[in-house]
Amino acid sequence: MFTVKRGGALFAAVVAALSAAAGAVCGGLAEASAVAAPVIVIDAGHGGIDAGVRGKTSGVKESDVNLAIAYRLQEYFSGAGFCAVLTRKSQAGLYGVPAKGFKLRDMQRRREIIEEHDADMVISVHQNFYSDGTRRGAQVFFNKDSESGKKLAACIQNSLNSMKNAPRKGTPLIGDYYMLECTTSPSVIVECGFLSNAHDERLLCDEQYRKELAYAVFAGAVSYYA
Ligand SMILES: [Zn+2]
Repeated sequence: MFTVKRGGALFAAVVAALSAAAGAVCGGLAEASAVAAPVIVIDAGHGGIDAGVRGKTSGVKESDVNLAIAYRLQEYFSGAGFCAVLTRKSQAGLYGVPAKGFKLRDMQRRREIIEEHDADMVISVHQNFYSDGTRRGAQVFFNKDSESGKKLAACIQNSLNSMKNAPRKGTPLIGDYYMLECTTSPSVIVECGFLSNAHDERLLCDEQYRKELAYAVFAGAVSYYA
């Protein structure tokens, strides 16, 4: 069970209802009486020869930070009775052969996973980088044509803004990204922090902080269903 820090009763009720209704019907054959759990596809951005951005101080790969946070997210969602599916489960990319056109193949494979699992929600995990090294904080993006995506982005951004010591209160932004356009289900990109800022970088490399951040994303996503 989770420690509910804020939004208490309603949040607990949603999680309890899901836990009770869902059972273990994630991708398997459901009992006749069971209700299928909402499917959350958790996408760790980049991977393999595409490391994404790198930590300015430590050189940490964005792809590795994304994967670690994606796993924490999966634990929270699974524990609450959701069906939590990872697109990328290892450091490898999803493009097959690392040759010309790999980036598009990688994105198409992610889309296939979203479709194969009939995702009810897609959360893509990334880390930011900016020339101005003072820029900090989490930022959620959504597709301008998706009302549900906009709502989900607001839920998650609010939750991230409520984290203790959040460096700034972000506002969800419109993003023009493949992962937001490849599905009609609510889909967001969560840029968890800036690897171009030493403070954010240190936090994003810290296991405890990764858990806290993943919990905030999870709690925000659950509040979408409230
Ligand atoms: Zn990225």
